[in-house]
Amino acid sequence: VWVNCLRVIKANIGEQSFRTWFEPIVPVQLHNNVLIIQVPSQFFYEWLEEHYVDVLKKSIFQELGPDGRLEYSIVVDQGNAQSQPRTLNLPTSRKAAQPAPSAGPAAALAAGPMSSSARHVAGAAAAPAAAPPTLRNPFEASKVVDRNYVNSQLNTTYTFENYIEGDCNRLARSAGLAVANKPGTTSFNPLMVYGGVGLGKTHLVQAIGNHIKATTPDKFVLYVSAEKFTNQFIESVRINSVQDFANFYLLVDILILDDVQFMSGKDKTQEMFFHIFNHLHQAGKQIVMTSDRPPRDLNGLEDRLLSRFKWGLTADLQSPDFETRMAIIQNKMQQDGIDIPPQVVEYLAHSVNTNVRELEGVLISLVAQSSLNRREIDLEMAKQALRHIIEEVEAEVNLDFIQKTVAEYFSLPVELLKAKTRKKEVVTARQVAMYFAKEHTTHSLKSIGHHFGGRDHSTVIHSVQTVSDLIDSDKSFRSSVQELRKKFAGK
Ligand code: ADP
Ligand code: MG
Repeated sequence: VWVNCLRVIKANIGEQSFRTWFEPIVPVQLHNNVLIIQVPSQFFYEWLEEHYVDVLKKSIFQELGPDGRLEYSIVVDQGNAQSQPRTLNLPTSRKAAQPAPSAGPAAALAAGPMSSSARHVAGAAAAPAAAPPTLRNPFEASKVVDRNYVNSQLNTTYTFENYIEGDCNRLARSAGLAVANKPGTTSFNPLMVYGGVGLGKTHLVQAIGNHIKATTPDKFVLYVSAEKFTNQFIESVRINSVQDFANFYLLVDILILDDVQFMSGKDKTQEMFFHIFNHLHQAGKQIVMTSDRPPRDLNGLEDRLLSRFKWGLTADLQSPDFETRMAIIQNKMQQDGIDIPPQVVEYLAHSVNTNVRELEGVLISLVAQSSLNRREIDLEMAKQALRHIIEEVEAEVNLDFIQKTVAEYFSLPVELLKAKTRKKEVVTARQVAMYFAKEHTTHSLKSIGHHFGGRDHSTVIHSVQTVSDLIDSDKSFRSSVQELRKKFAGK
């Protein structure tokens, strides 16, 4: 019977999915029109239920008729030689096609995602196959758990109050506030914040988390870097507790995942995140993510995951302008009780235009020096402190270098990039150079246009867009760009 079912299933789904999700299934027993199949894990079971319930039903109906039923036996502990099967009822009749209760959310929660205790709970809960199904939504169980004692991993110093607003962050900040006030119910789900290093991504998304914790303490907010998420996942695979890992994350009300670019090329981690994402999103939970680049440039992230990001809002953070830098310094001074003469503040805001973290770093080193040398902070000291930073800025990729490198790559004289010509190969090279200028320098669009023979900022926008589109659509173009990008990386 199962072989026939598989034939039906195979005809209905992709080869890869079939191999991943159906080949590992072992038919156990057929009795009174009830087919019991054994699946390797709880997670596996939930996945089948979520993605393949229709095709499973279809195959069972075809083979066993309308009274046919399917039951799952879950191998509770794969590491254990005498695996204890747990049987869940899953009538294929209309009613009970709900997700099964997760093995033990409370247990998994209490001990954190790496707990292995849920497995044993599952074992203890083994029920006879004949019992009527009492399937609950896994989220239901989680409501009775007091999540307050679960550490949100938030840094409470990151708040909206000390997040200075400027043109550079207006959209991201207000979207963040909206999400913080109404998590899961705005159309900003997921909210994806992207921007270069040190521009305030982590601060902003943590502020969202802290705000929610402060206003609705019963919500389970969880902040996690994609790196930590990945490491936890890998560890859970190693110790055979992937289900616990998944169960833990399925309890979260607000999931904040920082630096998703870290998951690039890590397919299994992405698959797990995809699963969690879908679950949470469907249940109306809020998801907030950050990335150091726009989603379209997240090479190595699966398309189906990227397409999910588009469901919500993507907002970018730009480098702060002079006024915002002034405000950030002043706010920081007030917060830390530092006193710095106004002309020094202005000098700093003028000179440090890379990112906010750098700005803060300079402030801290000034304060340290002043207390070390028992000397008031003055302009001289500030200039001294800034010397190394200014050298670093000079070592950074600059426009000339980008133009020279791109022109060389396309075997064109660099002057042509600034000339009027509209010859196709020149236009392409020019657009690519503008694209990298946008990506690798802090020049404004206007300034970039200026350095390319006085073109205006809309030309630059158009160029950047054209190159992005080509990267998406043209494989060989994409690899050229990647090759070029290597020349700028680490510069
Ligand atoms: P990212 O995660 O983008 O690398 P962070 O969020 O870690 O950047 O920010 C770097 C530092 O700059 C942090 O100390 C943060 O508090 C500060 N910062 C960034 N943006 C702002 C802002 N708009 N107002 C106040 N502080 C900011
Ligand atoms: Mg960060």
